[in-house]
Amino acid sequence: MEHQDVVIIKKKLPFSLLIGKGIMALIGLSGVVFGIMLAATQQGSMVQAFMILMVAIISLGISLLRVQTVTCPSCQSKATIHTLTVDFECRRCLKPTSIKWEKP
Ligand SMILES: [Zn+2]
Repeated sequence: MEHQDVVIIKKKLPFSLLIGKGIMALIGLSGVVFGIMLAATQQGSMVQAFMILMVAIISLGISLLRVQTVTCPSCQSKATIHTLTVDFECRRCLKPTSIKWEKP
């Protein structure tokens, strides 16, 4: 199967979104600390601590991840990928495309 390359320029995030992500990261971090404290001091149940940890880790993940749309070079259909992706397979034509990220 032929392999195509696509070069994507990383978009700069608007300032408001950067602040939002910063807040998310803060909530995530304090949630992780709080969850661990809760588990360590046995004040809450393990389920509670686990739930808080889960939510905290998810918000941390969201704050670190960026998504961007790419256009498949073979069939021109759009796909949403996150910026840690180096390879993506188009859902429509199933052709693999390697992604080269370029800094703006
Ligand atoms: Zn495609």
